[in-house]
Amino acid sequence: MLKILVVGAGPVGLWTAIQTKLMSPKAEIVINEKYEEYKRSHPLRLELSALKSLQIPNNSEYKAQIESMQNAILALGSPHWDAFSGKYINIRTNDLEANLKSVAQNIGIRIEKKEFEGIEDIPAEIQYVIGADGARSKVRKIVCNDEEDNTERKTMKYVVEMKYESYGVNVNHSVIQKYPTQKLLNFFTDDYVGKWNNDTGRYPVSIRFFVDKDTYDALGDANFKNSKRAIDICKEQFPEKLKQDIRVWLNARKDSGASITDVQSIKITKLPLEAYCSKSFAKIQDNKFICIAGDAAGAVPYFRALNGGLERGAKLGQMIAQGQSMEQLESNYNSKMSYWLKIEIIKAILKDLLINIWTFFISISSYVPWQVNKWSQKDKERLKNEDPFQAYVLNANNHSHPLLSV
Ligand SMILES: Cc1cc2nc3c(=O)[nH]c(=O)nc-3n(C[C@H](O)[C@H](O)[C@H](O)COP(=O)(O)OP(=O)(O)OC[C@H]3O[C@@H](n4cnc5c(N)ncnc54)[C@H](O)[C@@H]3O)c2cc1C
Repeated sequence: MLKILVVGAGPVGLWTAIQTKLMSPKAEIVINEKYEEYKRSHPLRLELSALKSLQIPNNSEYKAQIESMQNAILALGSPHWDAFSGKYINIRTNDLEANLKSVAQNIGIRIEKKEFEGIEDIPAEIQYVIGADGARSKVRKIVCNDEEDNTERKTMKYVVEMKYESYGVNVNHSVIQKYPTQKLLNFFTDDYVGKWNNDTGRYPVSIRFFVDKDTYDALGDANFKNSKRAIDICKEQFPEKLKQDIRVWLNARKDSGASITDVQSIKITKLPLEAYCSKSFAKIQDNKFICIAGDAAGAVPYFRALNGGLERGAKLGQMIAQGQSMEQLESNYNSKMSYWLKIEIIKAILKDLLINIWTFFISISSYVPWQVNKWSQKDKERLKNEDPFQAYVLNANNHSHPLLSV
């Protein structure tokens, strides 16, 4: 009987464990997860093809449960389509994880709250270890023979993400509708408008600005623990081009969707869009097969990190259940992962190139005289010059109760 330890109950750890259990129902699978509750709620683009990447044997006793989980996940977001992702939905990380966790437990996978520290935490009876412990993986260190510098990296874009909550109607604009506003911006953007919450009457919005390196550096250490707030945007040292774009963006959303921004909820963080890849993916140590999956093994930007992680996690589960010798598995997994990730990186470079071409096209098209889809000159001036933070700053300076919305 297979005895398997999975490190990390993130989406890929749960997915890989579920696939292995489907192919090998007698396997004993334990997942170690360092947190009791899911911490992250960032929106994810989940492709339908990734959601369907689980192989479910026809005679599986878990077939109905898995299919109903897939339907429940699909119901969490409305379907979209684009040429790169095919059909997809936007879903929050914690919603995806909660659905996967519940099914994993129902089909007999044990989840223990435990932080994995190193090789000494692998129980003697375990034969297979799958490290799905994210980008700062401890299992990767073991697989890469304790080497500290164990990944190869390429920065593709610099991203500033602004998240906030809005009141009003949660209008999702199409590319055509966003185009006139995009032409007024210094940076290319991608946005996500979440579901309206019946209880609070609000809905979440995230917008990513693909900024230049100077703007990125000028934001200092705007990370998740130390995000910039509305008051920082009003300070002089806040990068000017980004300040202009935020102003135009908030004014345009207010105009076109009757949307009211809760200025106090604004959080701004920055992150590099990187493609990275572990230097190795699997090894045998003390008669145990130890491997990595998901962000622990590597990731590429443009909405493929999770999706690719799920697809490859499903393949890993199938390979483990096939009963290959550990030596065969080690060699097959190392060569297949290296091939799969190279393909992902090539696709990401192509998408990067297309974004550059599209950004160039937009900047040119904002100057030509024959534009049709555009804001009027009067509106342009207003969108650029109206300050959505004015009332907020005035109130904050007067030490009165700050105005919550603009
Ligand atoms: C803002 C943002 C937006 C994103 N948008 C998209 C998108 O639209 N589409 C997409 O495909 N991808 C997206 N991604 C990437 C996606 O979130 C990741 O690829 C995905 O979460 C990876 O899943 P994972 O299970 O491999 O790792 P993680 O989600 O990082 O999960 C790792 C788990 O392991 C646990 N863990 C870590 N260390 C230990 C330890 N030592 N012991 C025990 N447990 C441990 C963690 O608590 C966590 O639960 C986005 C990422 C971010 C940050």
